[in-house]
Amino acid sequence: MIGVIYDEAFLEHKPPRHHVENPSRVLSIIKALSQEDIPMERPVENIDEWLFRVHDPSYVRWIDTTCEGGYAFIDADTYVSPGTCRAARLAVGAVVKGVDKVLSGEWNAAYAVVRPPGHHAGRVGRALMAPTQGFCIFNNVAVGAVYALGRGVDRVAILDVDVHHGNGTQEIFYSDPRVLYVSLHQDPVTIYPGTGYVEEVGEGAGEGFNVNIPLPPLTGDDVYQEALDRIVWPIIKEFKPQLILVSLGFDAHELETIANLRLSLNTYAEIFRKLRDLVGVVKGVVFVLEGGYNFEVLSRGSKLLIDVFSGKDVDVGEVATDTDPRVRSRANSVMRDVIRVHRQYWHIE
Ligand SMILES: [Zn+2]
Repeated sequence: MIGVIYDEAFLEHKPPRHHVENPSRVLSIIKALSQEDIPMERPVENIDEWLFRVHDPSYVRWIDTTCEGGYAFIDADTYVSPGTCRAARLAVGAVVKGVDKVLSGEWNAAYAVVRPPGHHAGRVGRALMAPTQGFCIFNNVAVGAVYALGRGVDRVAILDVDVHHGNGTQEIFYSDPRVLYVSLHQDPVTIYPGTGYVEEVGEGAGEGFNVNIPLPPLTGDDVYQEALDRIVWPIIKEFKPQLILVSLGFDAHELETIANLRLSLNTYAEIFRKLRDLVGVVKGVVFVLEGGYNFEVLSRGSKLLIDVFSGKDVDVGEVATDTDPRVRSRANSVMRDVIRVHRQYWHIE
């Protein structure tokens, strides 16, 4: 069974002026899911103990003070408002609730429909020299992983399918072998945050547990699914996680205007089916909303997730996209690079 975790407090994180990351994103999702027969729960409150295991106290204090001050941009992309601190804490609390539901066996999957998003937030905010925090305040998925480790889980895999590299998540777990971070994203030369190269493999005990697959702009469903099949699923299966967290960004979709991959919802459906089939091998999967700014894609993609995990026949209703041959040859060379670098850690070829 899959359940949703949501709170109206997420609507109170409000931009001072027009912004792509706005409350209508989660409203469109919740509206689409309201006709589904699924449990909906509220986040866990009081998650500060876990928040401080990921974020530096001085960063959290700075965010709290800034929220109290009213509406403000903390960098060129990222804003806070009076409701941000509660929303951002409940976004973390939604992931914690999802982890609880899955570890207790009550649900086998959870979908945390949250904002602000999180995967660009590092220990002290900006991560890996990124120019901004990319709309993120606290790293929701990272706190969820740390919480699961604290609850006795030994190995957590984080699969990041947002079109942007999760530089915050990478930074937080870079030397931690208990957390496998796998990200497919648009080539960092061409998009924010400018990190996520193949050679970033982790360090110390964490070496080999950070896997980046930077795909060229205009990559379509065919190439993306090949990368999943040749690299992502084999590594995740070999890692044998007890829990999978998914940084679920819908901004790799071809209708997205702030990025340049060309996925259709067919790829998202395929990801959902593959993860559903892993339930049993893993205790469960917690999906955490990250980016995605097209309301139609957000709502239809979210409904697809619920339908796949509810075992319904799904009709994606979109034509799968093919990658142009010139783009494909560049993507092939990226996949060869990833395999060359990571075959010393994993059985991939
Ligand atoms: Zn994104």
